[in-house]
Amino acid sequence: MTTVTEAGTRADAAQEIRTRQRFVIASHVRPDGDAVGSQLAMAYALRHLGKEVRVVSRDPVPAALSVFPGVLDIDITDRVDDPGDAVIVMESGDLLRTGVAGLERGFIINIDHHVGNTMFGAVNWLEISAAACGEMVFDLVRELGVPLTYEIALHVYIAILTDTGSFHYSNITPRTFDICRQCVDAGVSPPAVARSIFDGSTLGRLKLFAAVLSGMQLDDTGRLATISVDQQLATDCAGTYDDTEGLINLPLTVKEIQAVVFFREIAPGDWRVSLRSKGDVNINAVASEFGGGGHKNASGCSATGQLEELTVIFRRKITEQIDKALAGSW
Ligand code: 5GP
Repeated sequence: MTTVTEAGTRADAAQEIRTRQRFVIASHVRPDGDAVGSQLAMAYALRHLGKEVRVVSRDPVPAALSVFPGVLDIDITDRVDDPGDAVIVMESGDLLRTGVAGLERGFIINIDHHVGNTMFGAVNWLEISAAACGEMVFDLVRELGVPLTYEIALHVYIAILTDTGSFHYSNITPRTFDICRQCVDAGVSPPAVARSIFDGSTLGRLKLFAAVLSGMQLDDTGRLATISVDQQLATDCAGTYDDTEGLINLPLTVKEIQAVVFFREIAPGDWRVSLRSKGDVNINAVASEFGGGGHKNASGCSATGQLEELTVIFRRKITEQIDKALAGSW
């Protein structure tokens, strides 16, 4: 059983890794590019050091990411019987969010950049200022003395590209670009990665985008967009929920729109809620109120109820955040 300790450093994480041999690497349910990229960059680095690694995920990896090296070796499972010498949990604000049982029995190294991480590890290395967990993995790989191989660079780049919303969010720093520059030096092709991730659409996905966007509602001020999809709509368009990845970013391309809320029906009355915003609009404050989390410009949570009622509640909370942000702007 892991005992919870205070915050640690990258050096602490590196030290615990050096002295151990067998690793399980986990991340959060419904993995995104940062989850998958961070896990696989770490896995390639550890294997370079001659360590044994098992990468686990409760949910399958989104189809657009499945073309990249190592993705098909990820073990899709909701339970781990042998936690090895250490479990590295990345990009996950709390342990339950991994969706994988049995990890809690291991020695946990918690590596994350989310506000509100519950410090559930024996080592907790948190960097809220990192634009992606992949930035932290990059630093850790360097700390471990592992060269930036093509595979490691590729997965670090995927993590950063996706978790910054294709370099849109306000958590980007000069360091973000410096890391990306080094990834490109290591052989990563930004146009090839972008084409694989963003231009591998199906007709079903395009139709689903059109259907969801045609149902978009704007609030009276035109600053907040609400979109939603239920199972029926997805089936009618021959699309899947996976196909809605990236859809939430489209309303934000409209200059006046400052925030978007996207409701996806998982079961009747049971919704996954994705939230996005621009600039100083703190959408994470809204997600946190509903037990979710994420970052200032990109967050998520779950909610139960009728769509109409949830829409009213979320709109009110998001409008408060928009007003707050615009009050402080020039
Ligand atoms: P998405 O809307 O793409 O699912 O998630 C956006 C961001 O919010 C990601 O950083 C993701 O990890 C975080 N996030 C989404 N849903 C949840 C949730 O239920 N709990 C927490 N803690 N974070 C979430």
